[in-house]
Amino acid sequence: RRAAIALDYQNLNPEQQKAVLATEGPLLLLAGAGSGKTTVLIHRVANLIRYGRGSDADEVPAWVTPEDLAFLEAYVQRPDPDQKSQQERLCRLDPAAPWSILAITFTNKAAGELKDRLERLLGPQANDIWASTFHSACVRILRRDIERLGFQPSFTIYDTADAERVLKDIIKEFNLDDKTFAPRTLLGYISRAKDDMKTGEQYLRQCEKSGDLRLQKIAQVYAEYEKRLKKANALDFDDIILHTVRLLLDFEDVRSYWQKKFRYVLIDEYQDTNHLQYLLASTLAGGYENICVVGDDDQSIYRFRGATIENILSFESQYKGARVIRLEQNYRSTKSILEASNAVIRNNQGRKGKELWTRHDQGEPVHCYTAMNEHDEAQYVAAQILGDVSAGKDWKDHAVLYRMNAQSNQLEQAFKRNAIPYRIIGGIRFFDRAEIKDMLAYLCVVNFPGDDLRLGRVINNPPRGIGQKTIDTAQALAAREGVHLWDIVSNAGAYPELQKSAAKLGQFAELIRDLRQLSGELSLPEFYEEVLKRTGYVAMLEQKHSIEERTRLENVHELSSSIQNYLENAVEEPSLAGFLDEIALYTDLDAQDSSENCVVLMTMHSAKGLEFPVVFVVGVEEGIFPGIRAIGEPEEMEEERRLCYVAMTRAKERLHMTCANQRMIFGRTSSNRPSRFLGEIPAELVERGGHDRRGGESGEHKWQPPQRRQRPRPVYDRGYSVGSGYTGYASSSGSTAATEQGGAHRTLGMSRPVAALPSFQKGDRVVHTAFGPGLITGFTPMGGDALIEIAFDQGGTKKLMLKAAAQHMT
Ligand code: ATP
Ligand code: MG
Repeated sequence: RRAAIALDYQNLNPEQQKAVLATEGPLLLLAGAGSGKTTVLIHRVANLIRYGRGSDADEVPAWVTPEDLAFLEAYVQRPDPDQKSQQERLCRLDPAAPWSILAITFTNKAAGELKDRLERLLGPQANDIWASTFHSACVRILRRDIERLGFQPSFTIYDTADAERVLKDIIKEFNLDDKTFAPRTLLGYISRAKDDMKTGEQYLRQCEKSGDLRLQKIAQVYAEYEKRLKKANALDFDDIILHTVRLLLDFEDVRSYWQKKFRYVLIDEYQDTNHLQYLLASTLAGGYENICVVGDDDQSIYRFRGATIENILSFESQYKGARVIRLEQNYRSTKSILEASNAVIRNNQGRKGKELWTRHDQGEPVHCYTAMNEHDEAQYVAAQILGDVSAGKDWKDHAVLYRMNAQSNQLEQAFKRNAIPYRIIGGIRFFDRAEIKDMLAYLCVVNFPGDDLRLGRVINNPPRGIGQKTIDTAQALAAREGVHLWDIVSNAGAYPELQKSAAKLGQFAELIRDLRQLSGELSLPEFYEEVLKRTGYVAMLEQKHSIEERTRLENVHELSSSIQNYLENAVEEPSLAGFLDEIALYTDLDAQDSSENCVVLMTMHSAKGLEFPVVFVVGVEEGIFPGIRAIGEPEEMEEERRLCYVAMTRAKERLHMTCANQRMIFGRTSSNRPSRFLGEIPAELVERGGHDRRGGESGEHKWQPPQRRQRPRPVYDRGYSVGSGYTGYASSSGSTAATEQGGAHRTLGMSRPVAALPSFQKGDRVVHTAFGPGLITGFTPMGGDALIEIAFDQGGTKKLMLKAAAQHMT
């Protein structure tokens, strides 16, 4: 008897219910942001497992709860086109086995959440659902069947950095100029060739026909790259999908195995699938054709990575008789936010066209703030967050979204100054840190010594007296004999060229052999401890006493948390190989832990599918957003506008959009006009603030770029004291745009005029609205402001800029 579950059918709206209960056949759920698409997907999976479709069952299964039964009865009492009796229809309930369901989501984290929620509903059996990203599902398929393609099942996965490393070697060997042939650019070409399902050979032939010499070189590099990966028994991210598709298309028996297994295939964020992923999905679902895709053409934002909205737009013609369900009610945002987002996206031509409505209140207008410069912008964001937190919101209710990672810098500084806890999604990932890559490289080599790339990384790390020359010689020997680097290293004595280093190489080979043996005997965490010890890596870090080394030491130990985590959640029998797969496919979005109470910063792309009570979209300027490349390019412009729609619709209660009159980015200062997207929001939905000289008082409604001539000089000497700009409490420099605007906008929760600043000094007891009571222990005057240090009673000392902090202190 299964654990009783109360599926929340009643709370779904009729269209959502329809989408949950229409279990059989192809279904397209096409709907705008926040309309509950992902919610429906989760309920669909639960419903499939709970009730599924009825087929042969001759009575209602015993585990149907009375509440659910009542609901289902009501449901089946609706007119049935097939004129089946109610009893007959109830008897068709036919629960699906969890392992027969493949649910593809955008991140591992989303997949994990889906499983968690289902586990709560269904108990441990939820663990057997194939809920994962495209990549993790493919790795599982490949582990079973990749031998057909001439790879060993223990293949390793190269991340982008690994792939670029291989390309760099090839570029060097081919004597190519690494500016014209930058690894990243090459990887882009290779990726596109793969999306067209072209092998290196095929691509080369195609390029030869074109007569383009540069392309031909690129194709040669691709062919060589392909060869090397094969030799290393390695797959890059694109290969994972490509090889799975090849496997399914070329081998009948493999295809029919998987097609029989997956009775139901569901895909979230379908608008962002590329051609290969489309092939993959439709092939896997080819047996039962129970394919449900969920998406929003207005949120397609990965065109640059080969995603094609065509997949969603042509679904109906691809699957004759496909059902299409549209959801029109938005449950996420206030009216203002929704209307503003609708107004922006309406300017796109190439769309199916839909409008969302909501029962929610009008809410606050969209706050548009024009900053003087990027410092001012960052300080505005910081001050707003502090204000919200003192009014009772959590740090984690806030997200800051930007177009480019480079924009995070200023924000980070402002957050540090104001002691705002934050987390950047997409900076240097934990798994991209050198020490973590080193440890993972050891694990990869133990798992598969033929991994030349990783072997090269660890052979003299920590230093073992094996010099670069020896490594080069060994590599050359391996290339000459067509074997792995490991085969040479572990047999160094046999090569006169390596005579001098033979002993050291021998010791290293011994180390790897020992570790290999241990990996079979110990549990994963114990084994990892041995790796730390025996490789001498920890000893090396312990010898040095700098802060960096301490952090690195913490990091390598932290990796064991990932191992623990893996053990707790492993789907299959845990193994070293399994752990390495999981890590290889881990994206930084997966790291976002929503229980951690801090502000999150990320690119707009990363924010897809997420929601936050308060959202800041920063850098909304021509040249930044839309980016310079989109200007004058209608298709790119539409993609940027979709990105804007995605960003705006992340907000539930309050949306801030900011731009700056002047901005320093990539080491250059530029003056950008406010983005056209701001102009597309109807004026009555906007509350403007900051240094827009055309400000609110004039009653002018159209957003206008600030007039350069009159733009206030950036006032750097005020440091980061920008409280002034938008509060109307401007201090030192007297006439700023904000004071001219007077009270055109609200004071945004600021409680204390800057004039009261002198009343704080060292030794004062204060109460901070966000951090509680404390004592001012340091006071350093700084450019019209002061850096103060407060020791808080609840523990911790924070350094704050006085002007910003004063507004939250008494
Ligand atoms: P996106 O396009 O951004 O991915 P989505 O369509 O997937 O959005 P969800 O994330 O599923 O939307 O839902 C948005 C919010 O609305 C969530 O907080 C969800 O809990 C809530 N929601 C969805 N359906 C309902 C409903 N019927 N009643 C109340 N709240 C709902
Ligand atoms: Mg969603």
